[in-house]
Amino acid sequence: GVPVFLHLVFYRAAASPPSSNFLLLGPSGAGKTAFTTLLESKSSLASKKSPSTHTSQTSTLITVTLPPSVPTASNRYRSVNDPSLNEASKNPVKYRLRDTPGHGKLRASQGIAELQSMAASTDTKTKLRGVIFMVDTAALVDEATLRDTATYLHDVLLILQKLALGKGKSSTKRAAEIPVLVAANKQDLFTALPPGSVREKLEAEIDRIRKSKTKGLMDASMDSAGLDAEEDDVLGDDDAQGVFSFKLLEQVGIKVDVTGGAVKGDQQEEYGSGVRRWEEWVGMCL
Ligand code: GDP
Repeated sequence: GVPVFLHLVFYRAAASPPSSNFLLLGPSGAGKTAFTTLLESKSSLASKKSPSTHTSQTSTLITVTLPPSVPTASNRYRSVNDPSLNEASKNPVKYRLRDTPGHGKLRASQGIAELQSMAASTDTKTKLRGVIFMVDTAALVDEATLRDTATYLHDVLLILQKLALGKGKSSTKRAAEIPVLVAANKQDLFTALPPGSVREKLEAEIDRIRKSKTKGLMDASMDSAGLDAEEDDVLGDDDAQGVFSFKLLEQVGIKVDVTGGAVKGDQQEEYGSGVRRWEEWVGMCL
């Protein structure tokens, strides 16, 4: 049979409540509600509960079951013949996902506020494991949408950078490193940009945003002599001389992945395997 220690391991996994929290951010129309609904219906198939309905107006917290075939960081060496795979389907790994509204007005009050409180939390129950930032890859060709999306992502990354550097208001010690997944959604649409160009476009736009911010800060400090420009308000390196890339953020411990997928047509190989790669990213955070 199964060794006793395995029983213990899985008993613990089953008995402990889900405590890995993820935050779902991104502009309105990116597909956050559709993603949440899909994950919830996939999970309820497993637990035979009916999914609740969502609107894009309020923030919701759902408990999601990770498909047993998705490896987690702690069991990545598991093979198909491993008996623990069967155990895993009996006691699946769960995590919690908080969905936030993406509209301009609500974003500041809810998405960013949620990020700030979850990211700063040291309580294991509310501690943040990762941020999923969803984008509509068919909408990024529009300049205004790109600007809006990049501004939101810039603000999110700046908050994480401040926390990582320990310069946040209340945090004195270095916050746990929180990885970011840019979920390049709607890969099923033929007008969709591939994840590589999504990455380039976002990096270039964030570069523009941070350069104009640096200039603004310098002008402000010239106006009021003696008032130091807040250098830690700049994303990436302090002087913002070089070109911005997500790689720059790895120096402060923030890992950003840009991965394609589609909420519509989940599990279909041609659409970036639906949401599978995002689930794999979640698994690697667990
Ligand atoms: P939210 O504002 O981020 O919550 O976005 P919604 O979940 O309301 O999605 C906005 C629209 O995009 C809806 O009409 C969805 O059906 C659609 N949508 C979401 N995901 C996909 C996808 O992967 N492919 C396509 N073609 N449409 C999608």
